[in-house]
Amino acid sequence: MAKKPAAVEGTTKVVGIFGDPVDHSLSPRMHNAAFAELELDYVYVPLRTNRRNLKEAVRSMRALGIVGANVTVPFKRDALKLAQRLTPTAKAIGAVNTLYFDDKRLVGDNTDGVGFVDALAAHGLRARKKRVLIIGAGGSARAVLHGLLEAGAADVVVANRTLSRAAQLARDLSRRDSQVRAARLDLLDDFDFLETRQLVVNCTPVGLKGETFLDYDVDSTPKDCLHFDLAYAEKPTPFLAMAASRKRPTVDGRYMLLFQGAAAFKSFTGRRAPVAVMAKALGIKLPG
Ligand code: NDP
Repeated sequence: MAKKPAAVEGTTKVVGIFGDPVDHSLSPRMHNAAFAELELDYVYVPLRTNRRNLKEAVRSMRALGIVGANVTVPFKRDALKLAQRLTPTAKAIGAVNTLYFDDKRLVGDNTDGVGFVDALAAHGLRARKKRVLIIGAGGSARAVLHGLLEAGAADVVVANRTLSRAAQLARDLSRRDSQVRAARLDLLDDFDFLETRQLVVNCTPVGLKGETFLDYDVDSTPKDCLHFDLAYAEKPTPFLAMAASRKRPTVDGRYMLLFQGAAAFKSFTGRRAPVAVMAKALGIKLPG
């Protein structure tokens, strides 16, 4: 049974999430369940702000003794300028999703890429040497690509509606030991290409408003090709529903949320995150 949250006392340390909106966020639920499990005197709260006040809001962390925070849409890029030190990962991704203090300096980190790779690993897929298709080239695709390349993926194609954006992403993150290419969305029905993929990641919000997914020939992918949608909703997203109907294995975005949160939790508390408890708070189970 999940432990009851501890009462907030005069000693309680505060962690939060900056975003606009934040009322939909599952992070408070996930982190508070973890604090309760480890009996840590912490509380995680929503910190809704707007772009005009963001700088002041982040600065107030020090004044108020807020020990750490996550940053979500639409402020992940803005937060780059507000940290006193950036980790190499945050610099490479060009966005911050986690703020914490180290030696009194406010550090900006990004745990989205590692969260994605850890979510894959939890489902038995190691990114090393894998051949991947990423659909989309926005902020989340940047984090996913960085995580995959750090983990040794061999061949990654980024297909996007706006080709120039995919090309820019490939240029920014390319490295000598992995092949990264940009492509148009018509690659999504290219049999010869799709049959080579071991992982397909949807980094677009397409389908979330009830529309059908893009023109994508899931049947051309190998039977064990993992389909990962960064988005999640109450029902499987159209992308995952399509993959599941063709018996391809699927993972939804809550697993990435879980593992990016677990990495941030370590920075906030210095403790290893109780991942199974956090998963339960998100309504998911760890496989196996
Ligand atoms: P961005 O706005 O930065 O990027 C959106 C991408 O989707 C762009 O590549 C855009 O293409 C593409 N796109 C949007 N609409 C269409 C369309 N109708 N047809 C084709 N392509 C389209 O968004 P993010 O990268 O921040 O987020 C993407 C998704 O990932 C969201 O659903 C978000 O909620 C989810 N997400 C989940 C996380 C998690 O932890 N699970 C973390 C972060 C994001 P173009 O460049 O041509 O405009």
